[in-house]
Amino acid sequence: MSSDNLSIELTAPNGHKYTQPTGLFINNEFVTSRSGEKITSINPTDESEITSVHAAGAEDVDIAVAAARKAFKTWRDIVPTERGELMLKLADLVDKHRTTLATIETWDNGKPYTVSSTEDVPEVASCLRYYAGYADKLHGTVIDTGPAKLAYTLREPLGVCGQIIPWNYPLAMAAWKLGPALACGNCVVLKAAEQTPLSILYFGTLIKEAGFPPGVVNLLNGYGKVAGNAIAGHEGIDKIAFTGSTATGRQIMKAAAVNLKNITLETGGKSPLLVFEDADLEQAAKWAHIGIMSNQGQICTATSRVLVQEGCYDRFVDMFKKTIGETSKVGDPFQEETFQGPQVTKAQFERVLGYIESGKSEGATLAMGGTAYKDVGGKGFFVEPTMFTGVKDSMKIYREEVFGPFVVVSSFKTEEEAVAKANDTTYGLGSAVFTQDITKAHRVARNIEAGMVWINSSNDSDFRIPFGGVKQSGIGRELGEAGLAAYTNTKSVHVNMGTRL
Ligand code: ADP
Repeated sequence: MSSDNLSIELTAPNGHKYTQPTGLFINNEFVTSRSGEKITSINPTDESEITSVHAAGAEDVDIAVAAARKAFKTWRDIVPTERGELMLKLADLVDKHRTTLATIETWDNGKPYTVSSTEDVPEVASCLRYYAGYADKLHGTVIDTGPAKLAYTLREPLGVCGQIIPWNYPLAMAAWKLGPALACGNCVVLKAAEQTPLSILYFGTLIKEAGFPPGVVNLLNGYGKVAGNAIAGHEGIDKIAFTGSTATGRQIMKAAAVNLKNITLETGGKSPLLVFEDADLEQAAKWAHIGIMSNQGQICTATSRVLVQEGCYDRFVDMFKKTIGETSKVGDPFQEETFQGPQVTKAQFERVLGYIESGKSEGATLAMGGTAYKDVGGKGFFVEPTMFTGVKDSMKIYREEVFGPFVVVSSFKTEEEAVAKANDTTYGLGSAVFTQDITKAHRVARNIEAGMVWINSSNDSDFRIPFGGVKQSGIGRELGEAGLAAYTNTKSVHVNMGTRL
């Protein structure tokens, strides 16, 4: 630790050396927490401690909110083009520091370095650039009600936004939320997940370097029940944007009721992937693999329920198993050939193993995997890619989100049954349909209760396309132009052009 106790020189397992900030990022400075609490970050590959960082308590949240409120007074009125330029500078800095950011992401989260360096971190830069372009294109409208009145609308920032993000894509989730919030002229208090506290702090150094005024972006680590709860219930915060589990989303909604906060939630899923007999089965198997096994299965939109038409069930299952066996190479996430690293924490690792036991005891057929993977130095939170077939609708493994490299396969006879099964869930986030019949593809897409439907692919999300769920998978949309709606209020201005009383 340095003498100020707010940064530490670290050498990552890939040999990369960098300075890791450890404080709370408030007003463009790293500060110690008033709470005195710390979070220790664990490397999920070998279970070693990486370092400890400061964790915010309620008082620290108060300080960050006060900084954001003060900054909002001037930030809301800067020329929108300048806001966009700052965001573009930040995006360039993300590109410049890609190696460090990707290294931290892999070390702390366990995701393969090939993914963090070529997908996650580039997506952060792309998302910031995309929304930077909107900063000076947030147009209101003029509404003609006749000559007696001039009516127009302004799109105004909401104020201070609390953003609570998960651990599965620490930087990308931050960018999805910061992009539209900043473009629209809001200030932010963002809390990272306690499982992955490191990359956001390094990102904080780039916020300062880009030249954002102090207080516009404040980045906290902290425990959900403490700092997260303080943000969700804070009267000085105007909006909450949350990504995480449905259970936590429900808690946040309750806490946010205190001042009727504007709220967007992106929560859980048990997304179906439908394979019809007329599909290109080889492609369906490859996309089904991407759809559930990417990011160690830790994706809210993972197509974790695969529904296959009876006539192609056996052939598909064989191809799916073969693809997983050939592609899902489990190993050290810093090795180039690794497709699947460890689960993020021991708790998640045990959760997945618990669902494996549940599948076995409920009588589903374990088609592959089903155990911890011990070949990476005998340590780490690795799980073999796991598939259960012959899964019944009533089973826990069919109904509940597992959030791991864990897929269930079930069958259907008709299109009607396929849609009914797809919709038989409290969730409604992603979905995928494989068929060569264009009419059927669009018909099924209309009938599925989900925020997103992939036709002949799975999980190839894109920052330009709206993302979000229906039912208990969330409220509102992120990404795309739709993502801006959550960060502005429409103000209507009525100008009397001569109506005299
Ligand atoms: P998981 O169960 O996968 O860890 P969570 O939904 O609990 O996912 O966590 C997502 C984010 O929500 C994290 O930043 C976490 O700290 C935060 N969080 C957890 N509990 C609460 C809460 N009661 N209030 C506000 N934020 C919370």
